[in-house]
Amino acid sequence: MRSCGVFTLTRVASANMTRILMYHNFSMAGETGPDAVSTADLRRQLAYLRRHFNVVSLPGVIERLNTGKPQDRLTVALTIDDGRRNCFEFLFPLLKEFEIPATFFVVSSFIRGDDWIWTDKVLWLSEQPSRPRELSSDRIEASFANLNRLRPETRTASINAIAAQMAVSIPVQAPPKYAPCSWSELREMADSGLMEIGSHTVTHPILASITEQESWNELTLSRAQIEEGLGRPVVSFCFPNGKHGDYRQSQLRQVRDAGYAGAVVAEFGMVANGQDPYELPRIGVSGQSDVLSFSKSLDGVEYYQARLQKSCRLQTR
Ligand SMILES: [Zn+2]
Repeated sequence: MRSCGVFTLTRVASANMTRILMYHNFSMAGETGPDAVSTADLRRQLAYLRRHFNVVSLPGVIERLNTGKPQDRLTVALTIDDGRRNCFEFLFPLLKEFEIPATFFVVSSFIRGDDWIWTDKVLWLSEQPSRPRELSSDRIEASFANLNRLRPETRTASINAIAAQMAVSIPVQAPPKYAPCSWSELREMADSGLMEIGSHTVTHPILASITEQESWNELTLSRAQIEEGLGRPVVSFCFPNGKHGDYRQSQLRQVRDAGYAGAVVAEFGMVANGQDPYELPRIGVSGQSDVLSFSKSLDGVEYYQARLQKSCRLQTR
């Protein structure tokens, strides 16, 4: 498909839509993992972006949506979720080298060192030799789906029960792979003018699992804590997990009322002019994204395939 020009064709056809990329973890060249993108792969991806796209900042994309101004052609914005230190260590030097902007969504209690992220605790448990069947690679997604539905205190009790059953204790501090950035590292990135720091809540709850008052607190307190830590305004928000069903319509309004200019989710898609700036779809990039799958999603092939499959399903109903 690539050699016969399909990629170029879909790239041109989707030129008016903005792509927002979603990253989570990074590792050094030669180190591979299911989630972490190595610096060798990153370098190839950033070079591809530089060659074929116009890399812009997320606040710029959101501002255009809020003011009704069309996006420039072939625009891409980069986002990274959660606040882990591997972003500062591995991605940030490359952002400086390529002069590419990005937005880093951080969990404020994680940066403050109050606790580490519950999803990482589950992943850490899944890496231990005594892991139960429910945390094996083929079942962990289903286990996350179950945990996502629980209220935070029940979820914590469930995770602690798994650890007790495994006879391990969850470390108080995040192990190095899951460690957070410090405030000074975040400030250094923000001061470079390349990295926007956005909010990803205080404790990373699935918003659909908590009350309206609790989600309001997560939205406003995380914003206040990050603004205090950085000494700069926070304007972008990222929904934890971010799939349909992980948040309510009323919480999209809460994000706006809390003073954010826009928000991203984790549903796959591209951003068209006129789209709701508080529910922006993204394109996920993982350690398993090779050059072909990266360009396939970036160039719009995956987007048109998904649309075609949807219309085929509708026609066969
Ligand atoms: Zn997250």
